[in-house]
Amino acid sequence: QQRRCQLQELKGKKAITKDGRSVLIYANVGSLYEVELALENDAEGIGLFRSEFLYMQSRGGFPGEQTQFEAYRHAAELCGERPLVIRTLDIGGDKALPYMDFGHEENPFLGWRAIRVSLSMQDVFRTQLRALLRASVFGNLRIMFPMITSVWEVQEIKRICRNIRAELAEEGVPMADKVELGIMIETPAAVMMSAELAREVDFFSVGTNDLTQYTLAVDRQGVGLDRFFDAHHPAVLRMIRMAAENAHKAGIWIGICGELGADAELTETFLSMGIDELSVSPSAVLPLRSAIRSIDTTTLAPLEL
Ligand code: PEP
Ligand code: MG
Repeated sequence: QQRRCQLQELKGKKAITKDGRSVLIYANVGSLYEVELALENDAEGIGLFRSEFLYMQSRGGFPGEQTQFEAYRHAAELCGERPLVIRTLDIGGDKALPYMDFGHEENPFLGWRAIRVSLSMQDVFRTQLRALLRASVFGNLRIMFPMITSVWEVQEIKRICRNIRAELAEEGVPMADKVELGIMIETPAAVMMSAELAREVDFFSVGTNDLTQYTLAVDRQGVGLDRFFDAHHPAVLRMIRMAAENAHKAGIWIGICGELGADAELTETFLSMGIDELSVSPSAVLPLRSAIRSIDTTTLAPLEL
């Protein structure tokens, strides 16, 4: 009870270290209800809005533009000035849609997943982007793309976005002048290409769940593989550091939205890397803010990785 009261007192305060270094704490959500929960916990923004729930709830086919627009608008209005990062459809792998047949795949996590589905089913992708851009005038909405591996994917995405903007403008539909576009860094290829990718987008967000899986070649859901699914592995941490260095060289911001973002054992490490934002589950926002406020980065040992 005492701890809960202490955490409540942190509402309205910043996540700032004793020596004045600040990091933004956003929340990960998978429904409109969770957006409310995140705001109740005083998240400074939504760092990962998993849009899959709209597709999973939809009966008999992909959700239409209007249904999606209303959900995104609602979320944007709830957030107000707080940033709302909506991730485009990340289906496949472990997440199936009853009305979509991927066929049999030997390795679903290496197959029809996320941006690959969007770039291959452009009508579905365009519907989502139209809904997102229409909702952009109602708040501080940003768009994020999952499971990127190559620069050409991002260039193609940007081309499609430009095209949709022109289409909506012609229809007289209002849109925000600037909508930040970002990508998830969750494949080793994206890390190795992060210098080039950083020149194409406005932000990075590291998906440590998948980054760990693909870096260590360990199934994130594998039974009995816990010992091998080591998100603290230096290979994973060096990847995050490399992406952070390249993001900052290009002048863009970088966050972490995988489970690791809330791992208190790594908070100091992430501060040393200069991570700008941590996106965690709504219930982890205030405990993380409390942990950060007790850190003095001037006393941290240099990062040895
Ligand atoms: C991740 O991979 O770390 C991530 C945040 O995305 P998801 O867990 O939805 O795949
Ligand atoms: Mg992921």
